[in-house]
Amino acid sequence: MTDRDLINQAIQASRNAYAPYSGLSTGAALECADGTVYTGAGVENAALGCTVCAETAAVSAAVSAGRRRFVRLAVFADRPEYYVPCGHCRQLMAEFSPSMEVLCANNEGRYVSYPLKTLLPMPFSGNL
Ligand code: ZN
Repeated sequence: MTDRDLINQAIQASRNAYAPYSGLSTGAALECADGTVYTGAGVENAALGCTVCAETAAVSAAVSAGRRRFVRLAVFADRPEYYVPCGHCRQLMAEFSPSMEVLCANNEGRYVSYPLKTLLPMPFSGNL
């Protein structure tokens, strides 16, 4: 699967985003180590703390289906600026695959790629 294929799935997922408060539709597509892909859309809520990011939705779908190892996550936001995952989502991805890649796509057809370790160099490990 190419980067563009994964980004296109993130764009498709963004079409189901529920974003009445920010107006920013987001979608994510997560490629697992076995090649399966799980998608998620942003789901906002009037109580902002209840909002679920598209990346969290995709990771939750994958983990719920028994996947634990991820290769790449593409995230798309319908705006010209690149959208990078929030700290919560970075930590969630690092729990399973700290060496994965994150593709951040904008609505002008471009994207940038970051190693998750660059976005979150010191994930919380529980200090166990
Ligand atoms: Zn997030």
